[in-house]
Amino acid sequence: MIRKLLRRLVSGRATRQGPARIVPRSQHGISRQGISACAKRVTSTLQAEGYDAYVVGGAVRDLLLGRDPKDFDVATNATPGRVRALFRRSRIIGRRFRLVHVLCGRDVVEVSTFRGKHVDSDSETGTTDEHGRILRDNVFGSREEDAVRRDFTVNALFYDPSTEEIVDYCDGLADLNNRRLRMIGDPTARYREDPVRMLRAVRLAAKLGLEIEPGTRAPIRELADLLENVPVSRLFEEMLKLLLSGQSVQCVRQLQADGLHHGLLPMLDVILEQPLGERFVMLSLQRTDERVRDQKPVSPGFLFAALLWHEVLAAWRAGEANDKSSMVALFEAIDQVLANQSGNLAIPRRFSSDMKEIWILQARLANRSGRRPFALLSNPRFRAGYDFLLLRCESGEVDEEIGQWWERFQRVGDEERSGMLLPGSGGRRRRRKRKRAKTKTTEETPPAQD
Ligand code: ATP
Ligand code: MG
Repeated sequence: MIRKLLRRLVSGRATRQGPARIVPRSQHGISRQGISACAKRVTSTLQAEGYDAYVVGGAVRDLLLGRDPKDFDVATNATPGRVRALFRRSRIIGRRFRLVHVLCGRDVVEVSTFRGKHVDSDSETGTTDEHGRILRDNVFGSREEDAVRRDFTVNALFYDPSTEEIVDYCDGLADLNNRRLRMIGDPTARYREDPVRMLRAVRLAAKLGLEIEPGTRAPIRELADLLENVPVSRLFEEMLKLLLSGQSVQCVRQLQADGLHHGLLPMLDVILEQPLGERFVMLSLQRTDERVRDQKPVSPGFLFAALLWHEVLAAWRAGEANDKSSMVALFEAIDQVLANQSGNLAIPRRFSSDMKEIWILQARLANRSGRRPFALLSNPRFRAGYDFLLLRCESGEVDEEIGQWWERFQRVGDEERSGMLLPGSGGRRRRRKRKRAKTKTTEETPPAQD
């Protein structure tokens, strides 16, 4: 009992300091019914033990905007070890900052311990790099410190499901009402600490329909190059969130406008300058946005295959112009593009293998004679390759007729299919050719564009 009381005293609940504004439900309108059962269980269990516990971050913001939160995060003054001990189905994760995942059925709630101010920027002690990027940030702190180390004011609201009150240290509620995305503290310093915040600004503004406050927007262009120092895996994760936000067209436009697109997809700026490349990329993004908004599944491999397609295409054509067989040229082009990419935005293997298959299928789909089109129908990636082909047709890169041919070929029976096959590179001719060039390896697949 005494321990609990002491905890309450040091927790800040009884001795709250600082300029927190406590806003009752009557003013903000969020009822605890909007909170997932799992998050409520986590906060109430922690509070029953005398700890502070709040739903924080994106979930509070989304509820206030009338949106369904994607997930619920909880912040508390209990240490990760204590949280872990209180929930049987939980595990500690993370190296940079230890968090606890609490599981209820299939639901997961991420519980973080209030984070403190990181020690002053100091590249000597290794807490930051030479550009001011925070490398280590694992000090526990108070609720207020936890609020001000968050990125935007609208992300720094704490909601207590038991009282239905919101704790607001940074005027996040006012900013949200004014549809404004504002960085907490000095924007330049905060971007230096973590350049990914520049991408987050673009993504969250587009996704939530907020305007980036001028002071928060101003330093981005100048600091864009700092993204080069961010680990590629983290960039990839953030880029993926951005592309799958349902507002990717707007996000990519904004990245262009703010000069943030250079380091991400090296050729994106070049591609977007060519009318055909731009049409293709924008069309793929539009389709992705529609699918996300319709809550249909989206394949990141497909999307990245589309973003880099015109780069592959250029290298492929160049290889062919150098007298390489079409397939060899394509394989080399793929390797080259993926290698270029790995230094900028590492695409995990689980996606890059999908991308390769989709690209290779573009060569195979160009072949409409012999037995191969039949075999292609049972290829497990056929659908993705075909959808990709349709996008190419729609963007004007490939003749519409090829897409229509494949649409019909799928629809009709075997007999009609045989009648659809194009003459030309039939079996007999190929066999004769093979005989003639016994030692030479011949490549039968014609280039993707007839
Ligand atoms: P989303 O809707 O994409 O989940 P989110 O704001 O919830 O948006 P998360 O990555 O889930 O994004 O982060 C949860 C919270 O952690 C944020 O709301 C913010 O308070 C804090 N946060 C996340 N990334 C940063 C960052 N780079 N710097 C400071 N605070 C951050
Ligand atoms: Mg979130």
